[in-house]
Amino acid sequence: MTEDQVRTEIARLRAQLAAVEHWVDDLQSGMFINCVYCGFRYGPGSIHAESLDDPKATASMRDALTAHVQQCPKHPLAAAEQRVAALEKLLVSAAHALRSYQYGNSATDLAEEVADALDAALRPPPGGA
Ligand SMILES: [Zn+2]
Repeated sequence: MTEDQVRTEIARLRAQLAAVEHWVDDLQSGMFINCVYCGFRYGPGSIHAESLDDPKATASMRDALTAHVQQCPKHPLAAAEQRVAALEKLLVSAAHALRSYQYGNSATDLAEEVADALDAALRPPPGGA
């Protein structure tokens, strides 16, 4: 397959995906969709919007549910995203600490502080896995 054929195939598949996503949005536009973790419900005409100019006013049910999941207090994906963000922050601090030792820092308090924070973050939550 040539490079032009690959580009043509990618364009064809993208167009097909867009059509299928539009079809799903049409199918869902007249129905209610619930978050299975908290029960929050979106339905026809119930998408929250500040005004007709608000982008949420024209969001699909799928987009509305995706936005909800990102901030749902009971959805495991929201909790996982928060944990990933916290761990990324700790990794950055660990990398900075290691760099300081690379460039001659001989104090041990920074190593202890970063290791303690990592240990605490990696400790299983009480009563959970
Ligand atoms: Zn929810």
